[in-house]
Amino acid sequence: METDTTKIPKLEKGAVARGEALIRVRNVSKVFKFRKGEVHALRNISVDLMCGEYLSIMGPSGSGKSTLFNMIGALDVPTSGTVQIGPLDLPKLSSRQLAYVRCNYIGYIFQSYNLLPSLTALRNVALARVYTGVSDHEAEESAKRCLEQVGLGNRLHHRPDEMSGGQQQRVAIARALVNDPSILLADEPTANLDFKTGGDVINILKELSITNGVTIITATHDHKMLKNSDRVLWIRDGAIDHIDNRDDLHIDEGAISSLGGGETLEELLK
Ligand code: ADP
Ligand code: MG
Repeated sequence: METDTTKIPKLEKGAVARGEALIRVRNVSKVFKFRKGEVHALRNISVDLMCGEYLSIMGPSGSGKSTLFNMIGALDVPTSGTVQIGPLDLPKLSSRQLAYVRCNYIGYIFQSYNLLPSLTALRNVALARVYTGVSDHEAEESAKRCLEQVGLGNRLHHRPDEMSGGQQQRVAIARALVNDPSILLADEPTANLDFKTGGDVINILKELSITNGVTIITATHDHKMLKNSDRVLWIRDGAIDHIDNRDDLHIDEGAISSLGGGETLEELLK
């Protein structure tokens, strides 16, 4: 039977070559309106995000990172402008089609892990796979593989309250991976973690972008992200300030000292 979701173009992995534009953001603005005024959260953002890259959206609190993240991740719609992911023109899709895109092509990681407290790690991850229509058994097999990939093969049957913050975030990464997404979006994934644990999470993300060819986009103000990013998009008051390629990254002494890890600039950029 043909449904709404069978009609949308497929976004198979490999359909867009590594290094080619996978996500095209064009003239995106977002205005939140209130009874007594409005907030211009994004102002005319245009950028291409490349297949297989690790991009950090960096900026102070309130600068529009999460709003841009939501636009790229089909979680919210722009007031004006367009977002295209490969052959998919997001503003033209129905809400059912957008749900299909979110479930099958994009993995999400949030600051607060968002795990279901009554379910084990295995069931938390498997559930995301069950939503795509596969059997429980098959979903658990995939979930087990992903949990092993993030180093949690020995925590399959633990519930969230029986795991540390870093372990819970790794469960969330496994859940984001279980449907083999082309894109992984992480909004402040290290904000609740200590320096070392946050670093481990970033390293897992970097590894995934290299080995699985997943395009990784993080919204963050964690300067630890800089050393793993292929590019850094600096956002200020809802507009792109500038974009640094990895080789152009300049980090001021204040930023380094705020890391608290005692790293030198050279060590940081290694
Ligand atoms: P960041 O993630 O960089 O901290 P956000 O994207 O969350 O910034 O917010 C950007 C601006 O938009 C802020 O001024 C914020 O208050 C406003 N904003 C974000 N989401 C909403 C919303 N749902 N309703 C109203 N204002 C919002
Ligand atoms: Mg935010």
